[in-house]
Amino acid sequence: MKSRRNETVSLLKSLVKIDSVNPFDDRGGGEAEIAEFIRATLDSYGLATRLQRVKGRRANVVGLLRGTGNGPALMLNGHIDTVGVSGVKDPFGGRIDGQGLLHGRGACDMKGSIASMLTAIKSVVDSGTRLRGDLVFAGVVDEEYLSLGTRALVREYRTDAAIVGEPTGMDVAIAHKGYDWVEVTIRGRAAHGSVPEKGIDAIEKASTLVASLSSLKSVHAALKHPLVGSPRMHTSTIAGGTEWSVVPESCTLHLERRTLPGERKGVAKREVQRLVDNLSAEDPEFHATVAELFHQSGLETSSKEPIVRSLGAAYRSVTGRRAKMVGMPYWTDAALLSGEAGIPACLFGPGDIRQAHSADEYVDVKDVEDATLVFERAIRGFCLSDAK
Ligand SMILES: [Zn+2]
Repeated sequence: MKSRRNETVSLLKSLVKIDSVNPFDDRGGGEAEIAEFIRATLDSYGLATRLQRVKGRRANVVGLLRGTGNGPALMLNGHIDTVGVSGVKDPFGGRIDGQGLLHGRGACDMKGSIASMLTAIKSVVDSGTRLRGDLVFAGVVDEEYLSLGTRALVREYRTDAAIVGEPTGMDVAIAHKGYDWVEVTIRGRAAHGSVPEKGIDAIEKASTLVASLSSLKSVHAALKHPLVGSPRMHTSTIAGGTEWSVVPESCTLHLERRTLPGERKGVAKREVQRLVDNLSAEDPEFHATVAELFHQSGLETSSKEPIVRSLGAAYRSVTGRRAKMVGMPYWTDAALLSGEAGIPACLFGPGDIRQAHSADEYVDVKDVEDATLVFERAIRGFCLSDAK
């Protein structure tokens, strides 16, 4: 029988070798193959499994290890899609280098964590321990785009807590930012390029708005969250104009504001609207409309939640060190589990977010092995307790 160490690593290699690039707008390979692979793996452990259809061929893979029913239920949640592979040399190779780093797309974000979670579940099953609470593994699609997977998941599944296996560098993340996407449409007036004074240049007007965004920096700096810092805003895209000899009559800006946990929907729109109102008051030819296109709330989970305590204790027993309780700048599905489904959620996983999405993505095999032990002990700590 293979050692658990070898099992985690060979499982991780197999996961990396499967192309599961998010289809985004029909560009990537999709998650069907990896979902089938994980389902077969969980079947072989003896879990009750299913594919939960999300959209077309895209399906979440869900495995259930039924407990005796008198304890709290835990969900281990991991997204099975990855970002694209352009510029990545050997995206599906899974090579381990001399320093024990396993390379490939998704190695860090977040197939390393999924390999750890799956092997941890196998260890629990093999040990013969009967958990009190149910254990649910959810491999979800589309986290890298619209999070269709977790949105579908929470319509059917509820547990008493969840761990999302994003790469946290082995810290326990209990908070992260959300984000708002805002579209500003600036309306000018077209005119022949030889008589630009007859028109209103929408791109020029847009540039005054872009310049005024810097006034928000001090506003944002004054808002501070102890774990995630201050909100941020940046211009994402700008589009306007039609041809060389025409004064542009319209210009569209897309802005993103990273929000703090607890900041409500609409906060970015209000800030941008105020700037637009100021510019309109100063300049009668400045006309713009502001719309919020998308909103994702942040995450904030109490460090006193039983799952956070179980995870912290598990980390300490494996490494001998206290787990760091941190906040993350990036958004995750944990916000949907916590916000929409009311499931207390935190993040834990091997790998550094700086490697995620990069051209040379890798994860340290040693961390993946340690994470396996941490997940196993966290499962036992939580699902054998009476924290319900
Ligand atoms: Zn991720």
